Amino acid sequence: MIFDKVLQIYQNYFICVHCLGRMFSLLGSNTTNQERGNSLLLSLTMENHKNFLSNNKDQHKIAIFNLKLLAEKANFSSAQKVLLNEGIEYFTSEAHQICYLCEGIFSDLGKYVETSRIALEGIQFDNLLVGTTPDSLIVNREDIFKSEHKILEAESFKSHFNRVVGKKLVKVLNKEPEFNNPDILIIFFVYADHFDIKVNLRSLFVFGRYNKFIRGIPQTHWFCNNCKGIGCKHCNFSGKQYDTSVEELMKPVFINESKATDSKFHGAGREDIDVRMLGDGRPFVIELKNPKVRTLDLVRIEKKVNRKNRNKIKIQGLRYSSKKEVIKFKTEAKDTKKTYKALVKAETKMTKEMFGEKLNELKFEFENKVINQRTPNRVSHRRADKIRVKSIYSLTGKFIKSNLFEFVIKTQGGTYIKELISGDDGRTSPSFTEIFRIPLICKKLDVLEIAY
Ligand SMILES: [Zn+2]
Ligand SMILES: [Zn+2]
Repeated sequence: MIFDKVLQIYQNYFICVHCLGRMFSLLGSNTTNQERGNSLLLSLTMENHKNFLSNNKDQHKIAIFNLKLLAEKANFSSAQKVLLNEGIEYFTSEAHQICYLCEGIFSDLGKYVETSRIALEGIQFDNLLVGTTPDSLIVNREDIFKSEHKILEAESFKSHFNRVVGKKLVKVLNKEPEFNNPDILIIFFVYADHFDIKVNLRSLFVFGRYNKFIRGIPQTHWFCNNCKGIGCKHCNFSGKQYDTSVEELMKPVFINESKATDSKFHGAGREDIDVRMLGDGRPFVIELKNPKVRTLDLVRIEKKVNRKNRNKIKIQGLRYSSKKEVIKFKTEAKDTKKTYKALVKAETKMTKEMFGEKLNELKFEFENKVINQRTPNRVSHRRADKIRVKSIYSLTGKFIKSNLFEFVIKTQGGTYIKELISGDDGRTSPSFTEIFRIPLICKKLDVLEIAY
């Protein structure tokens, strides 16, 4: 019987109407916990008022006991008024009655809303979600309380708090609630006597394609190999192995425009430091962390980055993206087709005619065929040693001079081009060196196209 349970609770504890309703939250719908709690106390008052007025002496006595309990222990005004009207004395404790379960938190939620409102000033967003980490003391005490009273229909502190504060907050701010992918996540760390607030702004993802017109810079920030970023004599105390990178050249503009705290660069693969990225460029996604601005002028960003970095890098085709696309980059990397231009030096000279013959042989051996490529020597310290089978789709060659040639090669993503040419001491087979029977070395390499 619910009524017995409620009376039993108030014999031992004071809990507020929010928490009373909350303990029976799964019962009855289309109402709030506060109304549910109030209704329970009101029904109990009515029932006992009726028994008070009856002629049954026993019932009359129990009714007075219960009405006093409701007036004194539950601090319920309706019961207090009934007793007052009937001329029955009751005593409420002088000390303010603080809810045993929520410490009065649910009776005073305005400060959480106000603190959030201030914390969100100057931040652009459309929707939000409230989260809570209640103090374990509150949670544990409530667990014991529930098992003591065999309560099975309760809503947790956390869930009640999130819903009620969230509701108030979206109303005050005139925003939308969003449960799956909110722009803003407000987390309250709630203790009995104080609280902390943390605001998480969802990362903003922007897709684009970049060109790299200079050799010698990596795609992303590269810590000094010697000090790992701390700063040492090697790196002139910059902590960096390379002065700059594609990422670092574009980053300040994005940070500035989005008022983000940091960014992370995700490239669809990467070219070597000494390799240029030409053609339509390489897809990338820049992740802007904690952006205060979510509506970016992407055209302006593109222009700003390009103006600042003329002849170094260029970005184009900016649009909003998502984490999903970043994951797609990783899974689709091996399905891409990449076209390279390689300037190749031969150890010994050859005639143009001989080169023509070798080129035909090369086309025969490689076009629409596969090669076996063991992890190159130069990367074996950071990649697993294994043999990869890679497709070569097409190739063309040009004789520049007796020991200098140019090749345009279209291959499957992930093919090591320098090793395809040199043979990497037999680790890549077949190789250009193998076919030419002269050691060949790739002097300069450009990526011309990346196709999906
Ligand atoms: Zn309470
Ligand atoms: Zn260093």
